[in-house]
Amino acid sequence: MRAKVNQNICLNDYKNVWIIAEQRNGKIEPVTIELIGEGRKLADILSRELIVAVCGYEMKEETEKLLHYGVDKVCYVESPLLKDFSTDGYVKAFADLINERKPEIVLVGATSLGRDIGPRLAARLGTGLTADCTKLEIDETDNKLLMTRPAFGGNLMATIVCPKNRPQMSTVRPGVMEKAHFHEEKTGEVEVIVPALTKEDIRTNLEQVIVADQKKVNLVDAKIVVSGGRGLKTAEGFALVQELADTIGGVVGSSRACVEAGWIDASHQVGQTGTTVRPDLYIACGISGAIQHLAGMSESKYIVAINKDPKAPIFEVCDYGIVGDLHKVIPAMIEQIKENPDL
Ligand SMILES: Cc1cc2nc3c(=O)[nH]c(=O)nc-3n(C[C@H](O)[C@H](O)[C@H](O)COP(=O)(O)OP(=O)(O)OC[C@H]3O[C@@H](n4cnc5c(N)ncnc54)[C@H](O)[C@@H]3O)c2cc1C
Repeated sequence: MRAKVNQNICLNDYKNVWIIAEQRNGKIEPVTIELIGEGRKLADILSRELIVAVCGYEMKEETEKLLHYGVDKVCYVESPLLKDFSTDGYVKAFADLINERKPEIVLVGATSLGRDIGPRLAARLGTGLTADCTKLEIDETDNKLLMTRPAFGGNLMATIVCPKNRPQMSTVRPGVMEKAHFHEEKTGEVEVIVPALTKEDIRTNLEQVIVADQKKVNLVDAKIVVSGGRGLKTAEGFALVQELADTIGGVVGSSRACVEAGWIDASHQVGQTGTTVRPDLYIACGISGAIQHLAGMSESKYIVAINKDPKAPIFEVCDYGIVGDLHKVIPAMIEQIKENPDL
């Protein structure tokens, strides 16, 4: 999002790295811990504090838990009007706080909720926002935030800066950044803030929350992901992928080609427009390794590729490559694993 240059601001007035926490039903969402992990690195480079802002109600105990992840402070904005998410309420509460405290960097999860409030917050604060970042760095010559995201259909990575406005804002995709580690010792403190928020500030009225009746695929937290691509040839090919995943305790992923072909639900898609994963083991079966797919899995610890084409780009990023027909290789793998369960 492009911001109008705000002529009146003094960049030096803005300090510290802020995370906009996400909560549902009073519980902090995992993306917040990922943002804390990344925010801590940026704050340490800048020698600044890392502060987490939370909106909610009756969540004091839950916000205290954040102090185990190496943050310097939690600003907990508490009001019955913030118990459930509303765009108006959350944007006003966060914007008022940011205007008052002036952080230099604000990170938001690129979730449906974060994508709703992030751009509105940026517009209200008169600054820019780089959406869907996959990498954040500090330019050590002038301490500016370098925000990198896929551009032009994922064919190149663009690094964007926000040189004249503050805060520098970015949404970060869930699953991309490493989670902050839990420490037994707490650091920092929770400051409870009462917002200047009235019922009239919120134009919507929440009647009911209906949870989508969908089988949840937890790709983000999976330690092992076995993904299928167009090389499976048919929807039935996924039975083989599922069998391998079940044998080794993995979750089934997919390339977009299979989702578009209607072979599997979109919730399984890995990649730039799907889920970003970083499991210990990623097995790509009949996936060519298009840049948009790699954008969602290249941070996996070990990548195994099965492809009949020795020139497939996936072989350039994998740790172990098997050139062969997946319909022969996968059953052989399953057999080997079942025969040697201690492998
Ligand atoms: C804006 C944009 C966003 C996109 N986002 C995503 C995304 O999030 N995720 C994503 O995956 N893609 C995404 N794509 C699509 C991406 O560009 C590729 O088209 C897609 O990843 C290809 O899927 P694939 O590897 O399954 O298919 P293909 O590229 O067709 O590859 C199939 C592979 O299977 C191999 N094969 C065939 N038969 C066998 C066999 N019997 N045994 C072993 N190997 C075999 C072939 O050698 C080939 O390498 C996006 C594209 C655009 C433009």
